[in-house]
Amino acid sequence: MLVNGKEMLMNAKHNHKAIFHFNINNLEWTKWILEKCNELNEPVILGVSENAISYMGGYNVIVSVVKSLINDLNISIPVCLHLDHGKSVESCKKAIDAGFTSVMIDLSKLSLEDNINETKKVVLYAKEKEVSVEAEIGSMGSINNNNFDLGNKTNLSDCLKFVNETNVDSIAPAVGTIHGIYKGELNIDYKLIENISNSIEIPLVLHGGSGLSNDILKKCIKSGITKININSDLQYEWSLGVREYLNNNKEVIDPRKIISSGEDKFKKMLENKININKQ
Ligand SMILES: [Zn+2]
Repeated sequence: MLVNGKEMLMNAKHNHKAIFHFNINNLEWTKWILEKCNELNEPVILGVSENAISYMGGYNVIVSVVKSLINDLNISIPVCLHLDHGKSVESCKKAIDAGFTSVMIDLSKLSLEDNINETKKVVLYAKEKEVSVEAEIGSMGSINNNNFDLGNKTNLSDCLKFVNETNVDSIAPAVGTIHGIYKGELNIDYKLIENISNSIEIPLVLHGGSGLSNDILKKCIKSGITKININSDLQYEWSLGVREYLNNNKEVIDPRKIISSGEDKFKKMLENKININKQ
């Protein structure tokens, strides 16, 4: 069942659990995530970046693929289809019109006032169609070709002002994680997560959940994180499987065999993350 993110996230928040957001890149990843989460009976958020949307052909393609898979594979868990890091009001509107059930508007690079004003436009449009809205505040770190930038952590009073004025459904504060897999010690601000979580009603989102140990993720959930975004961990595991298969099968040309050779490792990583909720 395709649903917005509100109820699943509020339920998880009340039960001190996390809902996982896994990014999709193609038909196969979408199918594997749905199959595995359905088998484990865990609701899931399918995150799609603007680049992945262009890669797959467009907003409507994604909605059709997800709806058809839910139908044909008899998926019974709640599934939320979410635009990840929407960079403009227009992009969010396109996703909403196509049938996405949740959008993230990421204008964290703008001033607080501009971020609030633009986010309000998305919220207004989304609420009419019962689509949930996530926003980002502060600036997340990132890693590119071994250069990394640790970003700027969110300040609590800005966060309260932002949430009160925009009426978003969830918020991603910058708390010290970075996008991509960072092989070093990150300085995650658990106290900041706790302070924000104690001051607002809506669920908190952790971006850059890849590369973090399950113990760190559990600590984040304990501090008040409700949604955890995982992308690079799945890419990494899938590529390991594919690389190994291609190295051992030099003659293979069937794309189904090549793409599927990463399925086992992909699904194991997925299960490993989801089981954090059971530990
Ligand atoms: Zn992110």
